[in-house]
Amino acid sequence: MSKISVLKFGGTSVKNIGRINHVVDIVSKQKNKCVVVVSAMGDTTDYLYDLAKRISATPNKREVDLLLSTGEQVSIALLTIALQERGIKAKSFTGAQIGIKTDNIHSCARIVDICKGSIRAALDEHDVIVVAGFQGQSDCGEITTLGRGGSDTSAVALAAAAGADECHIYTDVDGIFTTDPNKFPQAELLDTISYSETIELARAGAQVLHPRAAELARDFNIKLRVRNTFKPDNPGTLITGDSNVEKVCRVKGVALDSHQAYVSFIDIPWQFSFLTECETLFLRDNIIVDSVSQGKGSCENTRCVQLSLRYSDEAIFRTILDELKNQCGAKDVLIDLNVTRVSLVGAGIGNAPEIRSRAIATLNSARIEPRLYSSSESTISILIDEADSSRATQLLHDQFISLPEETECVAVTSPLTVGAHSSRQLAAASDSMRAGVS
Ligand code: ASP
Ligand code: MG
Repeated sequence: MSKISVLKFGGTSVKNIGRINHVVDIVSKQKNKCVVVVSAMGDTTDYLYDLAKRISATPNKREVDLLLSTGEQVSIALLTIALQERGIKAKSFTGAQIGIKTDNIHSCARIVDICKGSIRAALDEHDVIVVAGFQGQSDCGEITTLGRGGSDTSAVALAAAAGADECHIYTDVDGIFTTDPNKFPQAELLDTISYSETIELARAGAQVLHPRAAELARDFNIKLRVRNTFKPDNPGTLITGDSNVEKVCRVKGVALDSHQAYVSFIDIPWQFSFLTECETLFLRDNIIVDSVSQGKGSCENTRCVQLSLRYSDEAIFRTILDELKNQCGAKDVLIDLNVTRVSLVGAGIGNAPEIRSRAIATLNSARIEPRLYSSSESTISILIDEADSSRATQLLHDQFISLPEETECVAVTSPLTVGAHSSRQLAAASDSMRAGVS
């Protein structure tokens, strides 16, 4: 069987007919057989979701999946018509038609299997197959979507299933940068980056790649290149195996995530099931808990619980918090959405306390007060006021990237989390940690 390339084009690359024809130019120059994966045109997915939200604050997820998946269906058909018009033997497929099987978690489904036979059969007959990204089908026949930005994951999964030699992710910037190039002119293009650094950057909120795409690429050892649709001859950024984290740890990127919230439940009458209920309700909308701390409440047998979280839809998030407040009988719930998480990412940096202390000192010297910070193997995350986010990114980028300085790793034994709404609550949190509640 001849060699196979997977090429994925994002929404901006297929935004209109002119751009679709430009994609045809790129595809027509490929020597290998191609699986082309596309996103919905431009902002179609936002537009479709907005329509649903104009009818209901909490639209049914099955119906939303059905709605959103139509965006990609438009792109595959138009691109295939354009390819055929240039004499290229091409055929389009929805996720279901090419055999992308997922679990049945609507709006954030995971791919469980891809029918290799149907890809091979399609490529035997055609030079190019065009597949709708972001979607699949559950074993009960329902259309599912993989979560926003999920077309990257479709592309890498198809590359793994097809045994492709390479997977190219075409986007509207030159590759992966040290920070968001659309907002910060000092952002530098990275020639290479490791799978794990890419995963951490994506999880930290950088719009580089869907985090699960980088995970899959690592697991199946897929050579992944992120490149610019509008400069198709530029090499872009190559994502490869992990670098040697033992020798030097260096900050590779600074990412921002504004979908963060800091929530305090005040004076909850004591009951053991509160956190279980939180976790159960949070599962409903893919709300991710970053940290939890508990302290004593203002009256006997009550407690206060602080959570830092990532949400996706504000209205649904508020509905869930309201439901939790009513269920647990808390006196109040304080919801602060004016927070942003700024993260430093680089292999091993989470184990280098001197990097963390320099980061905190840098922010403090500019009168930016971290609300909470935590570190893991390759990430140091700091929750700050949203109003400080640009300044913080610039300062940290200057400190760790624009003025590079190699730092030897000093390993510490465990990751760290510090955080609170105020110094009073910080004291309460540490009291409760001492008391073993946290
Ligand atoms: N169209 C979907 C979105 O906008 C999926 C994707 O583009 O990857 O999130
Ligand atoms: Mg926010």
